[in-house]
Amino acid sequence: MNDGTLYIVATPIGHLGDLSPRAVEVLSAVDVIAAEDTRVTRKLLQHMGADTAMLSLHEHNEQQRIQSLLARLQAGDSVALVSDAGTPLISDPGYPLVRAVRQADIKIVPVPGPCAVITALSVSGLPTDKFIFEGFLPGKSSGRRGKFEELLLEHRTLIFYESPHRILACLEDLEAVMGDHREVVIARELTKTFETIRSGNIAEIREWVEQDQNQQRGEIVLLVAGAPVVEEANPDLERILTLLMDELPLKQAAALTAQICDAKRNEVYQKALEIKEIKAK
Ligand code: SAM
Repeated sequence: MNDGTLYIVATPIGHLGDLSPRAVEVLSAVDVIAAEDTRVTRKLLQHMGADTAMLSLHEHNEQQRIQSLLARLQAGDSVALVSDAGTPLISDPGYPLVRAVRQADIKIVPVPGPCAVITALSVSGLPTDKFIFEGFLPGKSSGRRGKFEELLLEHRTLIFYESPHRILACLEDLEAVMGDHREVVIARELTKTFETIRSGNIAEIREWVEQDQNQQRGEIVLLVAGAPVVEEANPDLERILTLLMDELPLKQAAALTAQICDAKRNEVYQKALEIKEIKAK
């Protein structure tokens, strides 16, 4: 292994066959593995037939570990960072370490592999050209609703990690804020025995999760279609809408504009919300 190098190594999110040969090579050869939970990584090493030294690096001791790891790297040791599953730093520990190592001008090498957010997006059937990943949603309903309101007009595909205990409450909040029509996808237990990927509108998916207790178990990625982009076939649409919004309630202004411009009512309504937001700034 190269001297004084930090390797950021992705590990499987379920299926052990997804561990890359390069990850095996690096994890077998480094001087030490910094693992989120050494018991979890021990099982992976056993599967590989390796016995590399390990130390723990998790959210509660990460700051303390940085100085000693920097010292080891500066002394020429090679270190691999792994989390319990997937790509380290993605809703997992490691960011302060990588930042400190980069600032110290020490070499960092990525060993890419599984990541739940990208895995889920790739099979979701939702637009993949632009997306935003919001990590874990707030634990309380008020926090979740606030987050969904903030994202109401976002055109990019929205991706969240959500706990199985909160998925139903989360879908209820989503429906309350965004209505029942948006397409959502639940990607559960990816690469594992009970892998389930299901899409439908918010109401359908909420009902399905409510009725099938199994859908409230395991690991879940929630994807939500972005707000529809209004095709401005009529170049006067925005001007007419803005004028009518000055005189009428938003809903009525949107409905009349849709009639005048022969446009889709819900798309004009979304546009009206955008204009309202811009005006409020
Ligand atoms: N670093 C990981 C990655 O690269 O995806 C994510 C770690 S985060 C602590 C764990 C969350 O990721 C889970 O609660 C779930 O939302 C998502 N996740 C991880 N593995 C998954 C899987 N096999 N199927 C669906 N979601 C998964």
